[in-house]
Amino acid sequence: MNPKDFPEHIRPHLIPKPSGQMIYRCLGCDRTYGIEKLLYTCPQCRQVLLLEDTDFDHLKTIPGRLWRQIFDYRKMLTIPALKGIFLFHEFIGPVIPPDAVVYLGEGHTPVIEANSRLQDAVGGRFYFKNDGQNPSASFKDRGMAGALSYINYLLRQGLISDVLAVCASTGDTSAAAALYASYLQASVKSAVLLPHKKVTPQQLAQPLGSGARVFEIPGVFDDCMKIVEALSENYPVALLNSKNAWRILGQESYSYEIAQWFEYDLADKVIILPIGNAGNITAVMSGLLKFFHAGIIETLPKIIGVQSEHADPVYTYYLEPDAAKRRFTPVDVRPSVAQAAMIGNPVSMPRVIRLVDDYNKTAGGRKVFVARVAEQDIMDWQLRANRNGHVACTHGGECLAGLVTAVKNGWIAPTESAVLDSTAHALKFSGFQDMYFENRFPDEYGVVPRPELINTPELVCPADLTEVPEPGKPLSGQALARFIRRVTEEIATRLDLKKP
Ligand SMILES: *Cc1c(COP(=O)(O)O)cnc(C)c1O
Ligand SMILES: [Zn+2]
Repeated sequence: MNPKDFPEHIRPHLIPKPSGQMIYRCLGCDRTYGIEKLLYTCPQCRQVLLLEDTDFDHLKTIPGRLWRQIFDYRKMLTIPALKGIFLFHEFIGPVIPPDAVVYLGEGHTPVIEANSRLQDAVGGRFYFKNDGQNPSASFKDRGMAGALSYINYLLRQGLISDVLAVCASTGDTSAAAALYASYLQASVKSAVLLPHKKVTPQQLAQPLGSGARVFEIPGVFDDCMKIVEALSENYPVALLNSKNAWRILGQESYSYEIAQWFEYDLADKVIILPIGNAGNITAVMSGLLKFFHAGIIETLPKIIGVQSEHADPVYTYYLEPDAAKRRFTPVDVRPSVAQAAMIGNPVSMPRVIRLVDDYNKTAGGRKVFVARVAEQDIMDWQLRANRNGHVACTHGGECLAGLVTAVKNGWIAPTESAVLDSTAHALKFSGFQDMYFENRFPDEYGVVPRPELINTPELVCPADLTEVPEPGKPLSGQALARFIRRVTEEIATRLDLKKP
């Protein structure tokens, strides 16, 4: 729709202009820093940072009702910069001019309600929000769109040039980083560090295909991370791991979209998401608080973070009910099918601690919960979801297993419905489905396939057929007719089909 056709009261707000006053704030010592430089940790105390708009109160001068209309009308525009996460420009990166935004089709992923069969099995109403339908097939694109748009803005201002973007990853972060960097490749090059032989061919394929320099390093993910940190401390590189606070801002879009999808009424909603490095749950809490403070939503929904028994540091931390006695201890992780969340020492833990406290206080009671689930349940629920029309990844399965646990624990009222984050596309983690169907999970996963969930391809090649087609050697005449007849009969037998 053309801007001049929108109602008069919307027009002044329709296309955002750069606004706000953004700063980095240290979660350790509370010092603040300007955003002209790329900063990842506090130069004084090494703690992680969050970005803050010191001019946020300015957004409150617009009533919540008008904000809701602005966002809903904005969806009708055909301006690419506002088609993705920057539809919520004022809440994500108000200082970034829309013409610096890098849009590759991220965000506005669909929310799909489970069918009644699956809802009955789980014992509650729920939806999957399919973040695997982002361009690189995971939610990481939201944060990268934020971070690379900001880098693009600095480039255009001449504050930086010839950026080398680096990250350590075993999968989705490097895929997203390489994709977004490749779009800006005249001025941005990317390099990703992967643990040697600890990534699948699919996980390698994405950054290779985007043209990133891909380095394989002996050891595990944590070793790669330490090298990336040393690189960022000693050389002029842009760090794209979740220490980069711009990524958190981009990921807040997930919560804004849920608000918009449910017409800004989140009173009876429960948001369920997996926790790995804890950037995603940080962003969801932060985003919802901002929408609440601006009067765009009137109730803060419940949030349930889910961790596997094989990587559960956040769960363990919150087991202690007395906040004063809680002590964070990293855990040694064991192999997990929720592989992208297999992290024992989450980078964003200080952000989580701060925001959970703030969220519960603002809501006036406990609203944030952390569930722990078994590897077996993650796999079983993922497969069951996908047998009912979903494309959930293992982390989506983890959310569903978390929902089942939450229902059992009485955390969810019958009037409430849950929105589950399928953080990636099922295809990214199809290797685990293969292991399940072929019953070859290594012991350390502790996953035993349930016969009723196994599915394998069947070769149809009747023994009495002397001639079968091969590529480049088609059958014809009698041989072809016989082949078609016998294979058809065989399939009909196996499917138990009867001629009428
Ligand atoms: C990164 C990732 C996670 C974990 O998210 P955090 O922000 O690290 O907590 C979960 N699922 C998938 C598919 C991911 O790529
Ligand atoms: Zn500090």
